[in-house]
Amino acid sequence: MNIHESEKLAGILTQKGYFPTEDNELADVIVFNTCCIRENAEQHAFGNLGALKYLKKKKPSLIIAVGGCMAQEEGTAEKIKESYPFVDIVFGTHNLELFGSYLDERLASKKRVFKITDDSGKIKEGLNPFRTSYPNAWVNIMQGCNNFCTYCIVPYVRGREKSRSKEAIFSEVQKLVLLGYKEVTLLGQNVNSYGKDLDGDVNFASLIDMLSEIRGDFRLRFMTNHPKDLTEDLVKAVANNKHCCHLIHLPVQSGSDRILKLMNRRYTSADYIEKVNLIKKYIPDCAITTDIMVGFPTETEQDFQDTLELVKKVGFSSAFTFVYSRRKGTVADKMEGQVSEDIKKDRIMRLVELCNEQTRIYSAKYLTKTVTVICEDYDKKKGLYLGRDEYGRMGYFKSDVNLIGELCNINITDVNGISLYGTLVTD
Ligand code: SAH
Ligand code: SF4
Repeated sequence: MNIHESEKLAGILTQKGYFPTEDNELADVIVFNTCCIRENAEQHAFGNLGALKYLKKKKPSLIIAVGGCMAQEEGTAEKIKESYPFVDIVFGTHNLELFGSYLDERLASKKRVFKITDDSGKIKEGLNPFRTSYPNAWVNIMQGCNNFCTYCIVPYVRGREKSRSKEAIFSEVQKLVLLGYKEVTLLGQNVNSYGKDLDGDVNFASLIDMLSEIRGDFRLRFMTNHPKDLTEDLVKAVANNKHCCHLIHLPVQSGSDRILKLMNRRYTSADYIEKVNLIKKYIPDCAITTDIMVGFPTETEQDFQDTLELVKKVGFSSAFTFVYSRRKGTVADKMEGQVSEDIKKDRIMRLVELCNEQTRIYSAKYLTKTVTVICEDYDKKKGLYLGRDEYGRMGYFKSDVNLIGELCNINITDVNGISLYGTLVTD
């Protein structure tokens, strides 16, 4: 989501006549699009920002801006105002679309601009992102989140759920396919609750149905799903849509019912397994990926064992693993029984080991098979092209010609963790 928001900011700048550079010394404008979901992301952002002080001294006309959800966090704008005087503009996630006018304001008045408004109106349409991820294109379908999982800062910094109209989404996806994009990923904090804030009978399953009418060869992906809201209608819509990849990212967070309750996830581990079975019933070959967290307040060894058990039971094709990070303003931050860093470290290592083992087992099934990937890049270090198959596995292969954007069949001859290696099938 952050990557796509950066594409939108880059779009605003390119329309104003700026063009991208990788050299900070050449830049006229530097925008930090920040994330505050975990503490280390935030520290990283402040570290990078501090490192720019010398640049501003060397080139006083340089404009430095900070946006994204960290800027929206309580106290951050004040901190930047006082301790980072070389920052010119601070804006939030709600008003990202207005960044161009803040830039004009700064250039015209020389006054620093601090605008973190909570605009509760509709999502603004008509931005032209400067897309950097061909052949994949990101499409936001909604913003914000209503779930208030007790560890999570997102609802505080991104506000309540706001869905785009299905017509706007349809026309953006159709345009991208006509432009030659081969893969479209629909984005939202909880795409399963898409449409709940809109008038009429519109939900995520009906949006997926509608997008199945778009002609052309392209793959449709979406993320992220909340297990409590994943419906049978949606799974059927995915199964019936020829564009939809057979991959569902279904964050579980924990396998302990006690911890899930404290997290306010509103499902039990049995409910989660039921959703997995529902997916397998309609889409037997569906890959399921997840997010898992260790070290939530009061998590015991037994709770952690329940998580390991659930991971073994489901057999995820891959998993993102996180160490719980305290976020100011959230309910969990005030809970008693915060887990020590040593225990968190020990649990994350054991969890990663199990997940890696599952990834290896899943990848091993690919050996000697032929898979179809959409070639998306060239890895200079490896000297190989790479692309993902519909289940999200990355395949690497050699080619003498540039195949980016092409569907490629590769015979898998080797696997290493999540990566597949093979030879290109030419006929
Ligand atoms: N809306 C998505 C997730 C957004 S954040 C969802 O509900 O699935 C992505 C992941 O970051 C979450 O799934 C969670 O595992 C992790 N995360 C969120 N807050 C966290 C925190 N305070 N500490 C550690 N991990 C966190
Ligand atoms: Fe955060 Fe939960 Fe919303 Fe995901 S669903 S963004 S984890 S509050």
